[in-house]
Amino acid sequence: MGSTVIHSAELVDGVRTPDSWIRFENGRVAARGTGGSWRDQACATDEVVDAGGRILTPGFIDLHGHGAGTRAFDEAADDPSAIAEALAVHRAHGTTRAVLSLVTAPVDALAERLRAIRVAAADEPMILGAHLEGPFLDHDFRGAHDPALLRSADAAAIDALLEAGDGMLRQVTIAPEHEGAGEAIDALVAAGVRAAVGHTSADFDTALRAFDRGASILTHAFNGMRGIHHRAPGPVTAAMRSPHVTLEVINDGVHVHPDVVALAFHGAPGRVAMITDAMAAAGAPDGAYLLGSLAVEVIDGVARLTESGTIAGSTLTLDAALRQAVGACGLPLETAVSALTRVPAAVLGLGAELGRLDPGYAADAVLLDADLAVARSWIAGA
Ligand SMILES: [Zn+2]
Repeated sequence: MGSTVIHSAELVDGVRTPDSWIRFENGRVAARGTGGSWRDQACATDEVVDAGGRILTPGFIDLHGHGAGTRAFDEAADDPSAIAEALAVHRAHGTTRAVLSLVTAPVDALAERLRAIRVAAADEPMILGAHLEGPFLDHDFRGAHDPALLRSADAAAIDALLEAGDGMLRQVTIAPEHEGAGEAIDALVAAGVRAAVGHTSADFDTALRAFDRGASILTHAFNGMRGIHHRAPGPVTAAMRSPHVTLEVINDGVHVHPDVVALAFHGAPGRVAMITDAMAAAGAPDGAYLLGSLAVEVIDGVARLTESGTIAGSTLTLDAALRQAVGACGLPLETAVSALTRVPAAVLGLGAELGRLDPGYAADAVLLDADLAVARSWIAGA
């Protein structure tokens, strides 16, 4: 693999370091520094990129997304090209690694899709694994999940999904107030899978018990759950109170008000991960779509269930989430970048490999123009 030197960049990686350079070799960060010292390190065969003062960040990591470019990851078992086409859209917007989310479906169908994602991941470094958003969700907070397919968790279902995932299952969203949920959280955590609280009617105490039991993610905070009331603090406050829990946020200006997004960042510093929760309509025209088995209408980029008008998945990309964070939400750039890089890497247990641009880390990076549009990206140096 060729080596690359990127110089004269403002490196944003926890802190901002102007006039930085970085050298990639064999898919990893080999060295970094400031000023003109890159010339001492560069070989004649290196590709040299003059960033011209633009911003360079670690590659963006999406913990939760369902597709893009008219394709959904739920199609994986029928047509594996869906994965590559959807990921290509997100890559153009700065995502370098992604966990592929599947909506509620029968356990057999989910197992088949997990196997398809496993096969795809063998050739596609962008794929970090799979996320099951359902079927173990609450009826009243189901969002865009088919009510007929919701069910409680039991050992047989969890075992079948763990076996089909075979190490590629990263995350399972569960409503903790339901029968069997506690045992399911135990089994997932024991297998190294992140248990997430979401699409839930749980109050503060119930959510707190799930986190104490080992759940470590709050699925799209504020959406698909009770909000924060001063006498009924709810699952978001329980997640803020639990130092090992990461809060996902869909920061598209539609799902959560920008000031409430800012509140989440202040309430859980270093523990908010911005996700896309993108559906097939991301990077694709408005119109009629399917989310799992449910009809969705997308108007002006906002996806709603055709039947009920309930807000469904987003059409967000991570670069747009970044712009929203520093724009409407008023967050510092380095905080917003961390919510796309080191925070999601850490929650997956990949904090020593991904999410930073220190020597030894994967050579995943995004070069951004002054308006935070993606100019170029690298995955494992390529
Ligand atoms: Zn989702």
